[in-house]
Amino acid sequence: MPTLFKYDKGVKFLKKPEDLTLIADPTTVKAASECDASFITHAHTDHSLAFPNEGIRVYSTELASKLFEGLTSRKAKNTEFVNFNKTMNINDVDVRFIPAGHLLGAAQIVFYFEDLTIAYTGDISTDEMITVPKAAVPEDDIDILITEATYGKGDLFFDSRERIKASILKWVADNLQNNNVPVINIGHLGPAQEIIAYLNEMLSVDIYCDNRTSEINKVYNEEGQNLQWNRFDILNDSELKTERSLILLPRAAKELPDFLKTHKVSRSIITGQASRFAYSKFEQAFPFSMHANCNELLDHVKAVNPQKVYTLYGFDSELAAIIRQKLQLPAQPIKLSKKRLTLEEFF
Ligand SMILES: [Zn+2]
Ligand SMILES: [Zn+2]
Repeated sequence: MPTLFKYDKGVKFLKKPEDLTLIADPTTVKAASECDASFITHAHTDHSLAFPNEGIRVYSTELASKLFEGLTSRKAKNTEFVNFNKTMNINDVDVRFIPAGHLLGAAQIVFYFEDLTIAYTGDISTDEMITVPKAAVPEDDIDILITEATYGKGDLFFDSRERIKASILKWVADNLQNNNVPVINIGHLGPAQEIIAYLNEMLSVDIYCDNRTSEINKVYNEEGQNLQWNRFDILNDSELKTERSLILLPRAAKELPDFLKTHKVSRSIITGQASRFAYSKFEQAFPFSMHANCNELLDHVKAVNPQKVYTLYGFDSELAAIIRQKLQLPAQPIKLSKKRLTLEEFF
């Protein structure tokens, strides 16, 4: 019997004849509890719901679980840690975690079923960055690639990360020079650490962030990064030197913290979504993302060179169409799969 797979509140695999079920990045406790094992690619909360549940057997990198704990203040339970680039046998299936870029500890997962080798990217970035390496390409032949498609649409505007970083730097420096406190909304986990690392390198500036970002920064530093920052929640108002202070706020924060209310501020936001939306409430919106953009996703798919591609998250139909057109590979969104693929159909 062939291995079956589909998207059902997570990427689900059914191995016959044993009726073994595995799920990657489950999005409900129920879906995960019904499976024999759950795999978590990385700590972002849309992928990591299974961590704090005693009843769910989880496999992840140790770093993903630490970052989850820093991000959510919840404990990961019943988790077995998996090392990168080491094949493990889990419930009689060989499984290998390889680096995904994106965040520290983020993995792509390769499942070696008897009839099919299936790679699932989770979220990936393919650029070499300061805080994360680029996504690895699986060494083995991949039959099925399930790739993320968050920004898998050709007409989204992304400049090179180096150029976007340079324009962030310029915006910060200009505001400091004018005695405005630059205030940037940015994702706690991933983008914040990359931008802190970059600004630490380029500029002598005191960076202040919230407690949660601070907890995540600590995990990055335990892994050999050298991030320098302060916490604004324990900041005494008089300590803020407007000519050399930069404030990072959580991405969704609307209100300024009280200590900033007496200062002249300029606000910007750093998010990949700025490639789609104007964010007119901010003076500047920088389309910087720790996700691969459309061209980078195409390059990754090409490098993996699978027999068939399934797309997931974001612009799944658009990316599948571009893959079919530009790479001449069969591709479709995994969520629209009408029925499970059989071995015969596959070949
Ligand atoms: Zn993510
Ligand atoms: Zn995601």
